[in-house]
Amino acid sequence: MNTKKNIVIAGGGLVGSLLAVYFAERGHRVRLFERRPDARKTNIYAGRSINLALSDRGWKALRGVGLEEKVRQIALPMYHRGLHQPDGSYVRQPYGQPGQAIYSVSRGGLNILLLNAADAYENVELFFNHKCVDVDFETNEVKFLDEAGNEVVVKADYIFGADGAFSAIRGEMMKTDRFDYQQQYISHGYKELTIPAGEGGSFLLENNALHIWPRHEFMLIALPNIDGSFTVTLFLPFEGNNSFSALDSVKKAREFFRQTFPDALELMPDFDQQWQQNPVSSLCIIRCYPWVRNHTALIGDAAHAIVPFYGQGMNCGFEDVDVLFQLLDHTADWPAALEQYQKLRKPDGDAIAELALRNFIEMRDLTADPKFLLQKKIEARIQQKYPELWTPLYSMVTFSHMRYSEALALGKVHDQIMADIMSRPDIESNWDSPEVEAAIIAKLREIQP
Ligand code: FAD
Repeated sequence: MNTKKNIVIAGGGLVGSLLAVYFAERGHRVRLFERRPDARKTNIYAGRSINLALSDRGWKALRGVGLEEKVRQIALPMYHRGLHQPDGSYVRQPYGQPGQAIYSVSRGGLNILLLNAADAYENVELFFNHKCVDVDFETNEVKFLDEAGNEVVVKADYIFGADGAFSAIRGEMMKTDRFDYQQQYISHGYKELTIPAGEGGSFLLENNALHIWPRHEFMLIALPNIDGSFTVTLFLPFEGNNSFSALDSVKKAREFFRQTFPDALELMPDFDQQWQQNPVSSLCIIRCYPWVRNHTALIGDAAHAIVPFYGQGMNCGFEDVDVLFQLLDHTADWPAALEQYQKLRKPDGDAIAELALRNFIEMRDLTADPKFLLQKKIEARIQQKYPELWTPLYSMVTFSHMRYSEALALGKVHDQIMADIMSRPDIESNWDSPEVEAAIIAKLREIQP
């Protein structure tokens, strides 16, 4: 019996191209169809450098097909948050233990690296300018439209929808019975800007940090790029006083930046042009189920699009691939493995969606709050002295492979413990006292399994 399968992947973004490498490595025939032109030949990123934070879950999936070292060459470590406070001060807040970092990597650069990795296999064929428009879950046939508008129908043993938040494959699943679907836009949108490199490709802000300007209702962030520039993202409500609709002229936008982010504005000499040229995009959370119909499965954003505030969307999609192959590698019964895949990953997709929304409030609001900073200090101290009893939620999500759903549940228990501690009237003065420490440790020991 031929155990090599005929795989069709719709979507050659970050997750689809990594998935292609995983199947190719195991000798299956892979055909990957991407709607857009080949990123390696056309500058589909239109000269704008957009980056992402890559962390442990993503690294593990890359390591699984030997790509970790190649990606490290295009990634920059960010060891701490660099908080630009409203009073002009700059506060460093480590992300984890010394040496632990999240990594800034260019979306375009990473996508190209993954497409090249897939293309290097003889058993992989890549098709660009092919838009998925239909799938038949009974016959396993997928229909694409090529650049000229011709229909291309392919048959597969298994089909994967890695076609992103507005997945066409998911769109077809929605027409089937008992398919649950929920789409939620948040009140904020975002606009990307660039701080250019300084002389000789130097960095104009500290380069080993993810910069955040937390301003309660809104925030600005900046991640470094290897060419010395920073990709800056403004997250702002669509409506209201400080909003994209209120900033309806470059003059108003410039004045808003001058008042709220003067240090960032100073570093963008072409601010006016950028503000006018760069679009405002919306942010959406998508939940759906099931992810599998017969031999067709959803993966990555197609299955679970989340808001970007935990820097986990891609990492979660890469972890989907890792988990899928932990299952497929140990059985010949692929339908059973796909069933297990969706059962395992759905609660984790839901958990990271919730965590990402919560982290938005934390990033824009609480990082500027002295009480929040004190709480972080207490947590860091407990973690340092009792690492076996306390791992901060951020570390569980970012620097571990614990299931997102378990991290969320444990995080909620920790929240309650810390809420009790922070409500003590004298906490500001005795936060590092043996008494406070003993109270926390007693609670933590109670919840140990
Ligand atoms: P996509 O990257 O969207 O790829 C889908 C691909 O499918 C695309 O190439 C698309 O052209 C193609 N496609 C779409 N429709 C069709 C069709 N009908 N036929 C064929 N092809 C099709 N994640 C992180 O981990 N860290 C971060 O720091 C981070 N920051 C983010 C910041 C912002 C502002 C945003 C919006 C997202 C961020 N994310 C981050 C999330 C991350 O971008 C996504 O989770 C990730 O791109 C998902 O990968 P994917 O391959 O599933 O989907």
